[in-house]
Amino acid sequence: MENKPEEPITPDHIIFNAIAQGDLVEFKSILAQHKGNVDFFDENGMTALQHAAYKGSKEMVQLLLDRGADVISGKHEYNYTALHFGALSGNSEVCKLLLDAGAKPMTTNSVGRTASQMAAFVGNHHTVATINNYVPLSEISFYSVPQGQQTEPYLPPFLVEPLHKFVLCVNIHPVRLALNLQHTPALLDNADKVSNVLEMLCKREMTRGSDTNEVMAFKYHYLAYVIREINNIRDKQKPNADKEDKKHDIVEMFAKKLLKPGKDGVSLDLMDSFLKDCVREFPYRECTTFHQMVTSLTSKDPPPALSIINCTINGQRGFVDAIPYCSTCGEEKPAKKCSKCKSVQYCDRECQRLHWFVHKKACNRESSVPNNTSNSKPIVDAAELTSELQNLVAG
Ligand SMILES: [Zn+2]
Ligand SMILES: [Zn+2]
Repeated sequence: MENKPEEPITPDHIIFNAIAQGDLVEFKSILAQHKGNVDFFDENGMTALQHAAYKGSKEMVQLLLDRGADVISGKHEYNYTALHFGALSGNSEVCKLLLDAGAKPMTTNSVGRTASQMAAFVGNHHTVATINNYVPLSEISFYSVPQGQQTEPYLPPFLVEPLHKFVLCVNIHPVRLALNLQHTPALLDNADKVSNVLEMLCKREMTRGSDTNEVMAFKYHYLAYVIREINNIRDKQKPNADKEDKKHDIVEMFAKKLLKPGKDGVSLDLMDSFLKDCVREFPYRECTTFHQMVTSLTSKDPPPALSIINCTINGQRGFVDAIPYCSTCGEEKPAKKCSKCKSVQYCDRECQRLHWFVHKKACNRESSVPNNTSNSKPIVDAAELTSELQNLVAG
């Protein structure tokens, strides 16, 4: 969008230029000088917020929202909303900001496509999952107010935000959920209340009439199931163990259980049966989502239960991406690699540490070279693991 020389230069032109060029300094200075409404329109009826969303600029989107930019309306000729543009940009955080500000995920453009469908169309899978997994904070805070004769709410108010964040997670790998819980211990300390509220949310999703959301209902059930399991491990621990040590141990015990390879040395049999039990315990057995999962799980040569659940919650990918995953928690595009064999990737040292009991044999095999016996020691001692962890290099 270049200014034609004969056109007068207005704040609108300058702000659209600043957005197009990603010039945050200029953008901030225009906003600071302009005291009025920030819903500027360009010649195509696109607002400044829509441009900033399309550009995938989290800062600009946040600044415009802080100034009261309208997240819903617009005059775009094909009825694209700010969320449609955010979805096209592939910036999930921008979409999250717009959703928090009240963007409606089900709004369609003039060809009947929602924002998440547009994101899928251009292959922004993480954004698809972010939008489809979105739940307004009010859904959770509903349970933090006493209802009817209650003197105490189902959910203590201080748990509303941590639970909201936990529910919005896109990576639903059980070890990632355990790590998330480790970082928000309040949820685990109140595991009974939290899993109870999650089951109530599940029921609520199934009883919304035409707005019933089976997928979200299953996700709530799944999260409740994982929290209960981690809490069971915690209950079985010695009561006199040091509190910090305990938290550390719970994730480790949980990870060791789920990541332990089966007889073939590759497939995760325990993970599979853990997750199959979760599907089996889903109380709404008449619904399509349940039937689809059971059909996949009982098919000949079934895919791992984790990928079936992941597809159910986050949607089928249009094509198989060669995206690297963290070997421990399934996070996409992890930052680190095993420095020794370079064949596995991890988010960080914690993920590498949790996976070492599985990886150490393969690592020694892959990195061993003739005449170098030190690399093929069958057992890796603690000192070696420490140095291995220190050698973690950026991927
Ligand atoms: Zn990880
Ligand atoms: Zn290795």
